[in-house]
Amino acid sequence: MSRIPLDPATSPSFPKAAKKSLGDQQLRRNVRHATDVIQAKRKKMVEERDDWQDLRESGKQIREHTLRYLDQYLEEFERNCTAAGGHVHWARDGKEACAIVTRLAKEAGASEVIKIKTMTSEEIHLNNALEAEGIMAVETDLAELIIQLGEDQPSHIVVPALHKNRHQIREIFKQKMGLENLGETPADLAEAARSYLRHKFLTVPTAVSGANYLIAETGGVCIVESEGNGRMCLTLPETLITVAGIDKVIPRFQDLEVFLQTLPRSATGERMNPYNSVWTGVHEGDGPRNFHVVIMDNARTEVLADEEGRQTLHCIRCGACQNACPVYRQTGGHAYGSVYAGPIGAILTPQLQELHHAESLPYASSLCGACYEVCPVKINIPEVLIHLRHKVVEKHTRGIGKLNPEAVAMKVMANLFRSEARFRAAQKFGRSAEKPLVNREGWIGWLPGMLGGWTQARDLQAMPSETFREWWEKRDKKEAR
Ligand code: SF4
Repeated sequence: MSRIPLDPATSPSFPKAAKKSLGDQQLRRNVRHATDVIQAKRKKMVEERDDWQDLRESGKQIREHTLRYLDQYLEEFERNCTAAGGHVHWARDGKEACAIVTRLAKEAGASEVIKIKTMTSEEIHLNNALEAEGIMAVETDLAELIIQLGEDQPSHIVVPALHKNRHQIREIFKQKMGLENLGETPADLAEAARSYLRHKFLTVPTAVSGANYLIAETGGVCIVESEGNGRMCLTLPETLITVAGIDKVIPRFQDLEVFLQTLPRSATGERMNPYNSVWTGVHEGDGPRNFHVVIMDNARTEVLADEEGRQTLHCIRCGACQNACPVYRQTGGHAYGSVYAGPIGAILTPQLQELHHAESLPYASSLCGACYEVCPVKINIPEVLIHLRHKVVEKHTRGIGKLNPEAVAMKVMANLFRSEARFRAAQKFGRSAEKPLVNREGWIGWLPGMLGGWTQARDLQAMPSETFREWWEKRDKKEAR
């Protein structure tokens, strides 16, 4: 049941992939419908809170403070987790994290592991790494199960199968579970998944999870979820292996007070997640006998070192920015070529990967600011996008500097805008130069050379026969008469 994971190193650039997605009407309908529903629920839940802006500010400050003292909080977590009977492992990158998880699963004698939904494991392609060593990973989250059985890829960080509708899910279940007479109500589909997974919960003794939060003060790990499958994976198996990025740490247990209010409201429009699990080490007669936490860097320290990009690590993976983004809402997640899609993907992926694997992503945005407005930890995504665009431009102009055609074009534009006479002359010239290209409806469908980029995916409206300035001047003269 392995699938080819989304990998920015091998995926096509965003404009290419987006073109394909835009041609898929069904996908666009599914994405639009799902994001509309979640956004409406989120709005209602957020408006209920008079202190929403204070909660956002608190979240931002906790994240800022944690990142400033990250080394100390990570060590504090390790101390407290170990004292409670857990084992902490450190991984420099995804490869190392996969190797540690595989080794631990093998030591536990596992040929199969049950998994709680974790984007971190998607980021490092953990399922494929386990399978290469003969260990089958079974996803237990409903959406992840749909993706796994459908040999598909996640397209949203909270609702990975958001691009599928109920009929498509029913087809997958019918085929892969051999359920010819399966109905298509949500209850039918949930029941099918429940029966399919129950046997796994009761017979597979090793589980792999991610973490929403690592609590430094207690050494505890917190996972929030909606279905209860996570709770089953945390309590039934003998061995539990948790993989988390270094950015998942929070200082105090009390900090959960903020995030357990902002995360569910932002993610799924709920006041509270139905299941909030916090587990700390091992306890006689209760939960797993062996508990491991693999804390992974995977380029996060580089992000931390970048003063402007650092705020990306504040992210609590709620997905609200994806639902609000006009670009994501048209293309869906696969076009981003990474498990992190939408605005957060557009800033996270180029920073976690070598920039050249994802340099089209900072441009996959209209910079409208909707993502910033909904972010529960106030990440200024447009600011980071511009910072990354700057890096991309710098990379491409290194060596040729002022001779770069784009730089030359910008210089010419700057000169035009600096002088009213030159600007008017350019407008006049533009109006006569465009004439042969304008169609009967007043649109330009093709532009030559470098300008062609403007008309690649849309038509350009012809310049008006009279500018606003000309109209204004005429109007002034009329009134003076
Ligand atoms: S960037 Fe903000 S809105 Fe987007 S997923 Fe992260 S926390 Fe949520």
